[in-house]
Amino acid sequence: MSKVSLHALKGNSYFATGIFAIGIYQHDNTTILIDSGSDDGHAKNVYDLLQAQGHSVTAIINTHCHPDHCGGNHFFQKKFPDIKIYATRDEKELIENPNLAPRCFCGGAAPFAGLQHKHIAPQKETCVTNVIAPYSDQKLAIGSAEIKIVTLPGHTPGSIGIITPENILYSGDALFGTETFNKHPMLFYTDIENTLASFKKLASLPVDACVLYHGGVIYDLPNVAKQHEMRILEIKEVILSTLQQQQLSIDLLTQKIMQHYKIPDNIIPFVLTQTAVRAYLTKLEQEKAIKLMVQDGLLQAMAII
Ligand SMILES: [Zn+2]
Repeated sequence: MSKVSLHALKGNSYFATGIFAIGIYQHDNTTILIDSGSDDGHAKNVYDLLQAQGHSVTAIINTHCHPDHCGGNHFFQKKFPDIKIYATRDEKELIENPNLAPRCFCGGAAPFAGLQHKHIAPQKETCVTNVIAPYSDQKLAIGSAEIKIVTLPGHTPGSIGIITPENILYSGDALFGTETFNKHPMLFYTDIENTLASFKKLASLPVDACVLYHGGVIYDLPNVAKQHEMRILEIKEVILSTLQQQQLSIDLLTQKIMQHYKIPDNIIPFVLTQTAVRAYLTKLEQEKAIKLMVQDGLLQAMAII
């Protein structure tokens, strides 16, 4: 596991470099992490970095429930039993219960063995101590620090971004850095309408810099948000034009999308792609561009424009 180092942004706003850009905000005796890494090993690297500077962690804010963002909670909660862990209500359930996400990806059934995987859910139980509610933009006081929460639904229903007093935004997985953006043509979004609205919101936020959990700091937020919007609209068009050629079951449509974007034949990429495809179908159905029906024992999608 590679070590991490501290990247100073402005004032008290930092992030830990490494595979993930974990946000760090320090104010007086308060050190807040924005997300916690994927597992104990990654969390320990961040812990060692902060300990070397005499800082203990007082709070973690999880931007959303995915295990690469909350898998380090367990480590910090053991090290600092009084630590506060914040998440929105929708995300809290999935962060706390390692069985829930695999079950969701298995259509609500007891999950297949391949879905009980560290890329699907955190492997250790953890406790969210503070729920950020209601799900709306708000100020949050933690110790002597006051930060802003901005709702960014789309990647997951309860995703948030955090803006520090120095006007630095930590946007979780609402957007992805160039490497991830280019490597994964089918970025994971579960609600396309909300995703597009969150891109517009991001583009209008008057922040000085934005930290992408996968990619680090960017200074051209409106452009990056626009680039993501174009990608989403392009995929929506690919799905609609595929359905305009022929009516397809969701499995066959997922197959065509996986082949089109050369997505590897493994169960995790499959369920992520199928979930994203369903999100596009919901959006197309809202636009009255397609119709969904069960025919010949298959859930089928048919273009109506
Ligand atoms: Zn995520």
